[in-house]
Amino acid sequence: MRVIVVEDERKIAGFLQRGLEEEGHRVQVANDLAAGRVALEAQGCDLLLVDRMLPDGDGLELVRHLRRRRDDARVICLTARDRVEERVAGLQAGADAYLVKPFAVEELVARIEAVCRRGGGDTVEVGELRIDTASRRVTRAGREIRLTTREFDLLRYLASYPGRVLSRTRLLEAVWDTTHDPGTNTVEVYVSYLRQKVDRGFDRPLIHTVRGAGYTLEDRSR
Ligand code: CA
Repeated sequence: MRVIVVEDERKIAGFLQRGLEEEGHRVQVANDLAAGRVALEAQGCDLLLVDRMLPDGDGLELVRHLRRRRDDARVICLTARDRVEERVAGLQAGADAYLVKPFAVEELVARIEAVCRRGGGDTVEVGELRIDTASRRVTRAGREIRLTTREFDLLRYLASYPGRVLSRTRLLEAVWDTTHDPGTNTVEVYVSYLRQKVDRGFDRPLIHTVRGAGYTLEDRSR
């Protein structure tokens, strides 16, 4: 793949370049937003790795720029801070995933594979589940699943982090935009609605409870 890395910390940029080139990618490094924009305009890319804190601004500007052009390159944001608000801002700007520094090359490679598996455009896939984020249409093994707005938002958020355990608090913040439970066990209730619709009638569940930790959406047959 053609990869553009926009990162001002030269050590990290070099580490990313070496790691990605070893994986067979063609890598171009830019050290600030302006250079990143030039690289994007000049040649485009299949994958953009962009730091949030650049000397001339927030890396998300580049992500918005890319999405305004309807460029469907995959985007992974790099950040030093792991805060829910940052992740949500990144996803809203059009990033596909987040990676929190410091990270190992193996983690980056796994994230790239996950992001690329989701395919082009606005379709997120987890196993036989397909989520079209533009039309808000969901199918499993070709069978259409009808969801309410909130159920869809919860499923899409879970699907943005396949295999990652997401806590109730984090789901509340991301999907309900609050840290206070608006009802009683709101997340549990909605997860049970989703299970009824997504997993019932299928041999293998995709929604898993991790006791004491939260929930994860994952195809464990792979
Ligand atoms: Ca930086």
